[in-house]
Amino acid sequence: MSIDFPHAAPAQRLTVLSGPSGVGKGSVKALIQEYYPWVWLSVSCTTRQPRPGEVDGADYHFVSTDQFESMIAAGEFLEWASYAGNLYGTPRGPVEERLRAGLPALLEIELQGARQVRRSMPDSQLVFLAPPSWDELVRRLTGRGTEDAATIERRLKAARAELASEAEFDHTVTNVSIEQAASELVELLGSPAIVKSG
Ligand code: 5GP
Repeated sequence: MSIDFPHAAPAQRLTVLSGPSGVGKGSVKALIQEYYPWVWLSVSCTTRQPRPGEVDGADYHFVSTDQFESMIAAGEFLEWASYAGNLYGTPRGPVEERLRAGLPALLEIELQGARQVRRSMPDSQLVFLAPPSWDELVRRLTGRGTEDAATIERRLKAARAELASEAEFDHTVTNVSIEQAASELVELLGSPAIVKSG
Protein backbone atom coordinates (compact mmCIF):
# COMPACT_ATOMS: atom_id res chain seq x y z
CA MET A 1 0.00 0.00 0.00
CA SER A 2 1.27 3.51 -0.72
CA ILE A 3 0.02 6.99 0.01
CA ASP A 4 -0.51 9.07 -3.09
CA PHE A 5 -1.20 12.77 -3.65
CA PRO A 6 -4.65 13.74 -4.88
CA HIS A 7 -3.36 14.85 -8.30
CA ALA A 8 -2.01 11.35 -8.84
CA ALA A 9 -5.02 9.53 -7.35
CA PRO A 10 -6.90 7.09 -9.57
CA ALA A 11 -10.28 8.10 -10.94
CA GLN A 12 -12.86 7.70 -8.18
CA ARG A 13 -16.24 6.20 -8.70
CA LEU A 14 -19.50 7.91 -8.13
CA THR A 15 -21.46 6.31 -5.26
CA VAL A 16 -25.24 6.49 -5.31
CA LEU A 17 -27.34 5.87 -2.19
CA SER A 18 -30.93 5.00 -3.01
CA GLY A 19 -33.78 2.83 -1.77
CA PRO A 20 -37.51 2.73 -1.11
CA SER A 21 -39.51 5.69 0.16
CA GLY A 22 -39.55 5.81 3.95
CA VAL A 23 -36.40 3.74 4.41
CA GLY A 24 -34.43 6.63 5.94
CA LYS A 25 -32.12 7.83 3.11
CA GLY A 26 -32.55 11.44 4.21
CA SER A 27 -31.64 10.61 7.83
CA VAL A 28 -28.52 8.69 6.77
CA LYS A 29 -27.50 11.63 4.57
CA ALA A 30 -28.06 14.12 7.43
CA LEU A 31 -25.93 12.01 9.77
CA ILE A 32 -23.13 11.79 7.21
CA GLN A 33 -23.20 15.58 6.80
CA GLU A 34 -22.86 16.01 10.56
CA TYR A 35 -20.40 13.25 11.51
CA TYR A 36 -18.40 12.68 8.32
CA PRO A 37 -17.95 16.27 7.05
CA TRP A 38 -15.13 15.19 4.69
CA VAL A 39 -17.59 13.17 2.59
CA TRP A 40 -18.62 15.22 -0.44
CA LEU A 41 -22.36 15.09 -1.07
CA SER A 42 -23.96 16.51 -4.17
CA VAL A 43 -26.51 19.31 -3.54
CA SER A 44 -29.61 18.61 -5.62
CA CYS A 45 -31.97 21.07 -7.27
CA THR A 46 -35.64 20.77 -6.37
CA THR A 47 -38.87 22.57 -7.14
CA ARG A 48 -40.36 21.71 -3.73
CA GLN A 49 -40.72 24.37 -1.07
CA PRO A 50 -38.02 24.51 1.63
CA ARG A 51 -39.00 22.90 4.95
CA PRO A 52 -38.38 24.86 8.16
CA GLY A 53 -34.65 24.95 8.85
CA GLU A 54 -33.56 23.96 5.34
CA VAL A 55 -30.90 26.21 3.83
CA ASP A 56 -30.81 27.09 0.12
CA GLY A 57 -27.51 25.97 -1.40
CA ALA A 58 -26.76 23.55 1.48
CA ASP A 59 -29.76 21.19 1.72
CA TYR A 60 -30.98 21.84 -1.82
CA HIS A 61 -30.87 24.50 -4.49
CA PHE A 62 -34.53 25.55 -4.38
CA VAL A 63 -35.53 26.55 -7.92
CA SER A 64 -38.74 27.35 -9.80
CA THR A 65 -40.27 24.85 -12.24
CA ASP A 66 -39.25 27.20 -15.12
CA GLN A 67 -35.63 27.25 -13.92
CA PHE A 68 -35.63 23.47 -13.50
CA GLU A 69 -37.03 22.95 -17.00
CA SER A 70 -34.42 25.22 -18.59
CA MET A 71 -31.72 23.25 -16.76
CA ILE A 72 -33.15 20.02 -18.23
CA ALA A 73 -33.16 21.58 -21.71
CA ALA A 74 -29.55 22.74 -21.29
CA GLY A 75 -28.46 19.20 -20.28
CA GLU A 76 -27.33 20.43 -16.87
CA PHE A 77 -28.58 17.38 -14.93
CA LEU A 78 -26.74 14.12 -14.49
CA GLU A 79 -30.16 12.65 -13.68
CA TRP A 80 -33.52 14.04 -12.67
CA ALA A 81 -36.92 12.68 -11.65
CA SER A 82 -40.40 13.70 -10.69
CA TYR A 83 -41.21 12.52 -7.17
CA ALA A 84 -44.34 13.17 -5.08
CA GLY A 85 -45.35 16.11 -7.29
CA ASN A 86 -41.96 17.85 -7.35
CA LEU A 87 -38.88 17.74 -9.57
CA TYR A 88 -35.46 16.71 -8.22
CA GLY A 89 -32.15 16.65 -10.09
CA THR A 90 -28.41 16.31 -9.64
CA PRO A 91 -26.40 19.17 -11.21
CA ARG A 92 -23.86 17.53 -13.50
CA GLY A 93 -20.98 20.07 -13.24
CA PRO A 94 -19.87 19.70 -9.59
CA VAL A 95 -20.02 15.86 -9.72
CA GLU A 96 -17.97 15.67 -12.92
CA GLU A 97 -15.43 18.12 -11.46
CA ARG A 98 -14.97 15.89 -8.36
CA LEU A 99 -14.53 12.73 -10.40
CA ARG A 100 -12.09 14.42 -12.80
CA ALA A 101 -10.02 15.46 -9.77
CA GLY A 102 -9.93 11.81 -8.66
CA LEU A 103 -12.14 12.46 -5.63
CA PRO A 104 -15.16 10.42 -4.51
CA ALA A 105 -18.68 11.81 -4.77
CA LEU A 106 -21.92 10.69 -3.14
CA LEU A 107 -25.50 11.19 -4.30
CA GLU A 108 -28.60 10.46 -2.20
CA ILE A 109 -31.46 10.12 -4.67
CA GLU A 110 -34.65 8.15 -5.32
CA LEU A 111 -34.81 5.00 -7.46
CA GLN A 112 -35.66 6.42 -10.91
CA GLY A 113 -32.60 8.69 -10.65
CA ALA A 114 -30.37 5.81 -9.52
CA ARG A 115 -31.41 3.85 -12.64
CA GLN A 116 -30.50 6.80 -14.87
CA VAL A 117 -27.05 7.03 -13.27
CA ARG A 118 -26.59 3.28 -13.79
CA ARG A 119 -27.24 3.79 -17.53
CA SER A 120 -25.19 6.96 -18.03
CA MET A 121 -22.26 6.06 -15.71
CA PRO A 122 -22.08 2.25 -15.68
CA ASP A 123 -19.07 2.08 -13.37
CA SER A 124 -20.72 4.05 -10.58
CA GLN A 125 -21.45 1.99 -7.46
CA LEU A 126 -25.10 1.76 -6.46
CA VAL A 127 -25.91 1.22 -2.79
CA PHE A 128 -29.40 0.08 -1.82
CA LEU A 129 -30.59 1.17 1.62
CA ALA A 130 -32.89 -1.60 2.82
CA PRO A 131 -35.30 -1.59 5.76
CA PRO A 132 -34.51 -4.11 8.52
CA SER A 133 -37.80 -5.87 7.70
CA TRP A 134 -41.01 -5.44 5.72
CA ASP A 135 -42.94 -4.84 8.98
CA GLU A 136 -40.58 -2.03 9.92
CA LEU A 137 -41.02 -0.36 6.52
CA VAL A 138 -44.82 -0.63 6.88
CA ARG A 139 -44.52 0.97 10.31
CA ARG A 140 -42.44 3.83 8.91
CA LEU A 141 -44.74 4.41 5.93
CA THR A 142 -47.92 4.35 7.97
CA GLY A 143 -46.47 5.83 11.16
CA ARG A 144 -47.82 9.33 10.72
CA GLY A 145 -51.36 7.96 10.96
CA THR A 146 -52.82 10.88 9.00
CA GLU A 147 -53.46 9.14 5.65
CA ASP A 148 -56.58 7.21 4.61
CA ALA A 149 -56.57 3.44 3.92
CA ALA A 150 -56.44 3.89 0.10
CA THR A 151 -53.37 6.16 0.31
CA ILE A 152 -51.61 3.72 2.63
CA GLU A 153 -52.47 0.77 0.36
CA ARG A 154 -51.06 2.66 -2.66
CA ARG A 155 -47.89 3.48 -0.76
CA LEU A 156 -47.37 -0.13 0.34
CA LYS A 157 -47.86 -1.41 -3.20
CA ALA A 158 -45.23 1.07 -4.43
CA ALA A 159 -42.90 0.01 -1.58
CA ARG A 160 -43.19 -3.67 -2.56
CA ALA A 161 -42.14 -2.82 -6.14
CA GLU A 162 -39.34 -0.57 -4.87
CA LEU A 163 -37.95 -3.34 -2.65
CA ALA A 164 -37.73 -5.63 -5.66
CA SER A 165 -35.27 -3.24 -7.32
CA GLU A 166 -32.57 -4.22 -4.80
CA ALA A 167 -31.34 -6.76 -7.39
CA GLU A 168 -30.20 -3.88 -9.66
CA PHE A 169 -27.76 -2.63 -7.00
CA ASP A 170 -24.10 -3.44 -6.30
CA HIS A 171 -24.37 -3.33 -2.49
CA THR A 172 -27.06 -3.42 0.16
CA VAL A 173 -26.80 -1.58 3.45
CA THR A 174 -29.55 -2.44 5.93
CA ASN A 175 -30.78 0.49 7.96
CA VAL A 176 -30.85 -1.21 11.37
CA SER A 177 -29.67 2.07 12.87
CA ILE A 178 -28.80 5.32 11.11
CA GLU A 179 -25.33 5.33 12.68
CA GLN A 180 -24.48 1.79 11.49
CA ALA A 181 -25.91 2.43 8.00
CA ALA A 182 -23.91 5.69 7.65
CA SER A 183 -20.70 4.00 8.79
CA GLU A 184 -21.14 1.08 6.34
CA LEU A 185 -21.80 3.53 3.53
CA VAL A 186 -18.75 5.67 4.33
CA GLU A 187 -16.67 2.47 4.34
CA LEU A 188 -17.87 1.74 0.79
CA LEU A 189 -16.80 5.20 -0.35
CA GLY A 190 -13.17 4.38 0.37
CA SER A 191 -10.41 6.92 0.80
CA PRO A 192 -9.32 9.17 -2.08
CA ALA A 193 -5.69 9.31 -0.99
CA ILE A 194 -4.86 5.70 -0.25
CA VAL A 195 -4.23 3.49 -3.26
CA LYS A 196 -3.21 -0.14 -3.42
CA SER A 197 -0.05 -0.89 -5.33
CA GLY A 198 1.32 -4.15 -6.71
P1 5GP B 1 -37.28 15.16 0.17
O1 5GP B 1 -38.27 16.04 -0.51
O2 5GP B 1 -37.91 14.38 1.30
O3 5GP B 1 -36.03 15.91 0.59
O4 5GP B 1 -36.79 14.08 -0.88
C1 5GP B 1 -37.71 13.27 -1.54
C2 5GP B 1 -36.98 12.23 -2.35
O5 5GP B 1 -36.21 12.86 -3.39
C3 5GP B 1 -35.99 11.38 -1.55
O6 5GP B 1 -36.25 10.02 -1.87
C4 5GP B 1 -34.63 11.80 -2.10
O7 5GP B 1 -33.74 10.68 -2.11
C5 5GP B 1 -34.97 12.21 -3.50
N1 5GP B 1 -34.00 13.14 -4.12
C6 5GP B 1 -33.34 14.16 -3.53
N2 5GP B 1 -32.55 14.76 -4.43
C7 5GP B 1 -32.68 14.09 -5.59
C8 5GP B 1 -32.08 14.21 -6.90
O8 5GP B 1 -31.24 15.06 -7.18
N3 5GP B 1 -32.48 13.33 -7.84
C9 5GP B 1 -33.41 12.35 -7.60
N4 5GP B 1 -33.70 11.50 -8.60
N5 5GP B 1 -33.97 12.19 -6.39
C10 5GP B 1 -33.61 13.06 -5.40
